[in-house]
Amino acid sequence: MIHYGKRKSPVVGRPSPRKSRKPEKPKGQLPLPAPRIDSGEHTSSEEHEEISSEDITIAIFCALAYEAVAVKYTLDEEYSCRLKGIGPKKYVYSFGRVAKHKVVIARPHQMGTVDTAHCATAVSLQFPNVRLALMVGIGAGIPSIPKYDIRLGDLAISIPQDGHSGVIQYDFVKYERDSIVLKGCLNKPPPILISADGSLQEDEIMERRPLKKFLQKITSLPKFARPEADDILFDENFHHINKGSDCSGCKASSEKKVVLRSPRPDHQPVIHRGLILSGNGVIKDPQDRDELRRGKKDAICFEMEAAGIMDEIPCLIVRGICDYADTHKQDIWHYYAAAVAAAYCKALLRKVDHQEVEEATSIKELIAGVGKLAEEVNEIRDSQRHAPS
Ligand SMILES: [Zn+2]
Repeated sequence: MIHYGKRKSPVVGRPSPRKSRKPEKPKGQLPLPAPRIDSGEHTSSEEHEEISSEDITIAIFCALAYEAVAVKYTLDEEYSCRLKGIGPKKYVYSFGRVAKHKVVIARPHQMGTVDTAHCATAVSLQFPNVRLALMVGIGAGIPSIPKYDIRLGDLAISIPQDGHSGVIQYDFVKYERDSIVLKGCLNKPPPILISADGSLQEDEIMERRPLKKFLQKITSLPKFARPEADDILFDENFHHINKGSDCSGCKASSEKKVVLRSPRPDHQPVIHRGLILSGNGVIKDPQDRDELRRGKKDAICFEMEAAGIMDEIPCLIVRGICDYADTHKQDIWHYYAAAVAAAYCKALLRKVDHQEVEEATSIKELIAGVGKLAEEVNEIRDSQRHAPS
């Protein structure tokens, strides 16, 4: 049985992400610049080259501090940026370059679709030449073996397939006899990013391992290293035993039921492409998870922010898998899953042609176009109203 909005405790689609809201400092060896809060004035230290907010063409949204930090470790160069001071001033912004793209990394202070939507609106106002966006961070995997043999540390990417748009808001549902139908359809990711992902897919088939060197760099920091912990997918009917503790009790239990999966030759992340479910609820019951998945065939991941961005800025969702949306979920895979997502983001943006992004319609032009269309519609309506009958 699925409950919407009635649970006493919030659900966890991303395994207890709310626990990790407080600012976190990586324990690695490399010094990290402190995240800078947008004060509406000068937003970063003097040591970086300063760029204009109008130079920025790509926005990277991260919900959590360590997700943003993982992306910052992939930057080719950091910048400072003087903002023009419009819009809400409650987001953490960082600036930098990936290949030839000047990017803003934007982080709302709250998780969930509503705060992310406000942050996306602020970004589109403060960086008027942003053409496209990525949402980069962690998510809960929905394994459906054999089609989607999703493991911890793999990736889920919102690629449209089989008539869906890549992301659906799962808290918009319609109850029908014996089933749940998901309704909240969102915009598709930008074609430029879908095409770049296609190029990465070809690299994977040719075993070029496009993420490997970027992931190695981030995971050389101990905090982002791949956990030593076992990756176990328990059967949906076997629930976690010791609440508040790790899965050692589950592993030792004579009652345990585990989904058998063949071993992989190495620990390189596998990229899964398909439908991502986005919403404010947290899913930590495998039966809820599977019921929702059946509502929309072949969904591969749950997350909590994409629905806030998709209709504001054309956006691709990139989620490193940190749990299976079940009662066994632990925080231990969070940093590594964030590192995998950041490595993919870097590999993807290196496939994107800078000129093509420049030539894509900017948010500013998109808004102007919609405004002009509305004016024309009103003019037609007026002329029809006043036409002699
Ligand atoms: Zn457990």
